[in-house]
Amino acid sequence: MAGLLSISEPTADSDSSTRLEALNNTKVLNTISGSYSREQIAQLFDLPLMDLLLQAQTIHRQHFNANEVQISTLLSIKTGNCPEDCGYCSQSGHHRDKTQLQAEKRLDVDKVIAAAKRAKASGSSRFCMGAAWKHPSRKDMPYVVELVKEVKALGLETCMTLGMLDDEQAEQLAKAGLDYYNHNLDTSRRYYEQVVSTRSYDERLDTLTRVRNSGINVCSGNIVGMGESRDDRIDWVHELLKMPKAPESIPVNLLVPIKGTPLGDKVLAEGQLPVLEWIRTIAVTRICCPTSYVRLSAGRESLSDAEQALAFMAGANSFFYGDKLLTTGNASQSNDDRLMRELGITAQLAQPRAPQHLPVIDAMSGEQSQVLVAD
Ligand code: SF4
Repeated sequence: MAGLLSISEPTADSDSSTRLEALNNTKVLNTISGSYSREQIAQLFDLPLMDLLLQAQTIHRQHFNANEVQISTLLSIKTGNCPEDCGYCSQSGHHRDKTQLQAEKRLDVDKVIAAAKRAKASGSSRFCMGAAWKHPSRKDMPYVVELVKEVKALGLETCMTLGMLDDEQAEQLAKAGLDYYNHNLDTSRRYYEQVVSTRSYDERLDTLTRVRNSGINVCSGNIVGMGESRDDRIDWVHELLKMPKAPESIPVNLLVPIKGTPLGDKVLAEGQLPVLEWIRTIAVTRICCPTSYVRLSAGRESLSDAEQALAFMAGANSFFYGDKLLTTGNASQSNDDRLMRELGITAQLAQPRAPQHLPVIDAMSGEQSQVLVAD
């Protein structure tokens, strides 16, 4: 199986040199791992858990400082009453009668900047801003562009999740210097119609293509535990590998079932996915996308220290700080600080991307202008 780890089973009489040889083979095989077929992704999911964790951690160490994590803070800049009907989300206007979520208008720029300053002071390197929109309107664009510029001026990396973008909007955000745009695929193409009916998988991929073409880093992840099968989780990983380039940031969420949402009610009635299957998904994502940041997002609040440590062992190297993720709870910050100390993990510094513009002079007219250059 090209690119997959083969580990010799030590026998009672195997000596230390045999075991060392097996470890060395691991290194050789890992360096030739590259693109994985769907079948190979399925084989990774099927590995004994310890073999899978060893391979994920080995690959992780080839590309990252193993004891460093990237920390983000997420703020909702416009909450609730979303026209989309995502079956897991309390912000959808379609589930409003049951979830009773209080909708809020756009947050004032001053309030967003104050929250960004607090995030920086507490150690976050990236500030993520989310709005419950199908897509930003024309009149929303000056507001979000101003937020990107002001937050970047604080020395933070910026990320936004605003729904679908057209070419012009992606270009505007890129020009403002936006570092990351989040747009999750959530699950496989097959299961997607069980999750949302107001948009298609292809529309989702179209926005991701626009973000990629504009030069903004792509953040795109999933939510596991929505009632999907392992085949769906395999297909989601395969979907990432079909992209021209894997997303730079990949959140692997564990569903927080919210009462009153269709998928939350389904999972509360039928039972939640075992945490180890989420850990497996993180490990397979790390192996298949070795240079991406794999992020722990929703679902972390309910996990024990040991389960979170296992997620880092599986190759996760990014998480959200703070008490709230848009509208669901998150592990408290003081608890995160304690856990990081106990695990010996430190926070990575911010590396904001500068807007890249090249001055261009029109040879015929002599007019000066600027063109945006993708990374
Ligand atoms: S997940 Fe986003 S797009 Fe879907 S309903 Fe919630 S806020 Fe709207």
